[in-house]
Amino acid sequence: MADSIFAKIINGEIPAEKLYEDEHCIAINDINPQAPVHVLLIPKKVIETLADAEPDDQALLGHLMLAAGNVARQLGVADAFRLIVNNGAGAGQTVFHLHLHIIAGSSFTEGNMVG
Ligand code: 5GP
Repeated sequence: MADSIFAKIINGEIPAEKLYEDEHCIAINDINPQAPVHVLLIPKKVIETLADAEPDDQALLGHLMLAAGNVARQLGVADAFRLIVNNGAGAGQTVFHLHLHIIAGSSFTEGNMVG
């Protein structure tokens, strides 16, 4: 499969402001934010969907959770944020390179996934 837009951002082909970066992942602002804080946390390893992750990816998936907390702290929203992973086109996934949406800054209500 051709490189996703996120792979191109990770390898520097497409410039993007990185809010956070470590050896395993980057965080960037979503180009079309659905909330005052809408950040994408993207592993550098290409995994197309969460369901494609394998046992070898266990540490990476845990790392993403810890990194999400770090990014939320960095952005001052650690007290109230939501993580969303859309898995598959039927669930709204449009970029087939695993990513976590970090959503914050709006009041969360039950039944509304983005606040
Ligand atoms: P998905 O729908 O796959 O869960 O989320 C993909 C997200 O990537 C969408 O929220 C969309 O706005 C965002 N997005 C798509 N292309 C770009 C891009 O080139 N740059 C950034 N920063 N976000 C993008």
